[in-house]
Amino acid sequence: MSNSKNLVLNPKDLHFIPFSGSEEFGVNFNAYTIDNKWLAIDCGIGFAGHRFPGIDILLPDPAFLEARAKDLVGLIITHAHEDHIGAVAYLWKRLGCPIYCSGFTAEILKLKMADIPGNDRAKIHVVRPGDQIKLGPFTCEFLAVAHSIPDALAVGVETSVGRVLHSGDWNMDPTPTLGDITDEALFRAYGDKGVLAYVGDSTNADVPGRTGSEADVEKGLGDLFPEIEGRIAITLFASNVGRVRSICKAAKANKRKVVLMGRSLHRMVGAAMECGYLRDVPEFVDDRQMDKIKDENLVILMTGSQGETNAMLSRVARGEHPFMTLNKGDTVVFSARPIPGNEEEINAVKNNLAASGVRVIGTGDTMHKIHISGHPCRDEILDMYRWVRPKIVIPVHGERSQLEAQARLAREAQISSVVVPTNGSVIRIAPEGAEIIDHIPTGVLAVEPNRIIPSGHVAISARRKMQFTGIIHITLVLDDRGLAEDPQITTMGLIDHGNEQEAAFEQDIADEVEDALAELRDSELSSNDKVAEQVRVAARRLVSSELGLKPKMSVHIVRV
Ligand SMILES: [Zn+2]
Repeated sequence: MSNSKNLVLNPKDLHFIPFSGSEEFGVNFNAYTIDNKWLAIDCGIGFAGHRFPGIDILLPDPAFLEARAKDLVGLIITHAHEDHIGAVAYLWKRLGCPIYCSGFTAEILKLKMADIPGNDRAKIHVVRPGDQIKLGPFTCEFLAVAHSIPDALAVGVETSVGRVLHSGDWNMDPTPTLGDITDEALFRAYGDKGVLAYVGDSTNADVPGRTGSEADVEKGLGDLFPEIEGRIAITLFASNVGRVRSICKAAKANKRKVVLMGRSLHRMVGAAMECGYLRDVPEFVDDRQMDKIKDENLVILMTGSQGETNAMLSRVARGEHPFMTLNKGDTVVFSARPIPGNEEEINAVKNNLAASGVRVIGTGDTMHKIHISGHPCRDEILDMYRWVRPKIVIPVHGERSQLEAQARLAREAQISSVVVPTNGSVIRIAPEGAEIIDHIPTGVLAVEPNRIIPSGHVAISARRKMQFTGIIHITLVLDDRGLAEDPQITTMGLIDHGNEQEAAFEQDIADEVEDALAELRDSELSSNDKVAEQVRVAARRLVSSELGLKPKMSVHIVRV
C-alpha cells in the first residue's frame, strides 16, 4: 500500500481511483488521472448509522486530492442526489476546483453551497447533454440518463489512452414522467467511437429483469388512491421530482389536492420549477391551509421514507410537529425503498404510526406499483454493455456483494477485463485490460454541528464505548497528606439512576478508592498519573466483580 503522499504513477497511463462509495452505499467520490492531472467525479455524503454515535452524516476524506489540488482540473457532479452531491458544500474549499454539472444539479448545489460560509468563490459551470468540454487531458462528454431525479448525466471521459464511460446512476425507464430517457441511439453512438472502460452503477446488479417505468407508478398510485378513504400522506425522497409529478397526476385524477410539507421538498420542487419542470401540475396547497380541505380530498407529501430522525414523517409520527398530526383514519404510503442499513429506523417510524391507528402501506403491502428503483437491473446493465461495447468493466456504487454481482454479469457477457475495486484501489486502465496496481488509504469524515472530524476520532470511539459499557467519574481532592475530602463518584449507564442502590454502589466504589489510596507512599501520592492509575485499577476491579462490566473510567484530581 502506498501512503497518499508517495503514490507514484506513470503519467502516460490512465488510472481510476474510487476513494469511497465502492464498499458501501453513499459517499461516492472518484477520480481519474493521466498526465499528472486529476479529474474528480461526484462528492456525496453517506448516512452514519449506529456505528457513529452522535453523528448523522459522513463525508469522503478529500486529503488525497487536496494534496494535488493544483493539478485538479475539475469536479463533475453527475446528479443532485445526496450521495453524489451532498459533500461538495463541506469540502469544496479544500479542493478549490471548478465544478461542472447539469442545470437542475447546479440549482440544488447553489442552495447547498449558500448554507455553508466561504463557498461564494466556487465556479459552477452548467453543462447540457451533448456538450463536450476539455479539462486538461480529459475531454468530457455528457449523456442524459433516466434516474429518480431530473437532469442526471453519464460522463464520457476521453483521454490519450482511451475512452471511459462513467455511468453515474441511471435506469432504462422507457417512459419517465419527467426528464430524458437513457437513449439507446446516443449510447450506441458513443460506443461506436470505441469505449475502453465502463465504470458503472451496481446498486441493482443482483436484481433480475428491468426496473419498469415511473409511468407504472403514476398508474399504480392512481389505482391505489380510490381504495383509501381518509387523508393520504406519502413519504418519498424530496429529490424524486418525477415521483412528485406522478403523485400530483394520480391525485388530480382522484380529486385530491397536494400539500408539500417541509423545507427540502419545497427546495427541490422550487429548483425543478426554476428549470422548467412541473409546470403542468396543479398548484400545491399551503400546509397551513390543509385543514380547510376535506380529508378525502388531500394528499400530503413529506420526507422521512428512511426513518431519518429529523425528517418530517418521523417528527409527525412522534407527535412533535407544531400543527400536523396523523391519526386513525389516515394512511401513510411509503413510496421509496429502504436503503440497506436504514430498516431499523424505518420500522420505528412505522410502529409509531401504527400505535396512533394510522394505516401504513409499504412497497410490499400492495399489488399496485407505488415505487420503482432509479437504478438498472440486470437486463438493463446487459443492454448498456451491448450498446457501449466496453473492453473493461469496473463496477462501482454499492456494497461488495452488488459490485461482485455486476462483475459476474460482465463476465457472463464476455467482457474480457473485469476489475472489482475496493475503496482506495488504484486501477490502471489500459488497452490490454485493467488491473489494480496499488492501494491508497482512504476514509470518511464525520460531520458534527460545529466541526468535521475523522470517523476514527477518539471522541467517537469513546462515545461508542460509553454506549456499551457505561461510565464512572471519580473526583479526588488531595492535599499533602492524601485525601482532603471523600472521593466523589458518579456512575452513568450502570445502575438504576437516583435510587438507594445507586448511592450504595457509589459508596462502595468510594470506599475501595480510599483503601487503594491508603496503600500509596507519599512519593507516589504526589504523582497524578500514579494516583489515577491506582484508583482506576481499584474501581475497575470492584465493578467487574459486582456487575461483570468494564465501564469507561475518568479520574479527575484536584490539589489543594
Ligand atoms: Zn442517484
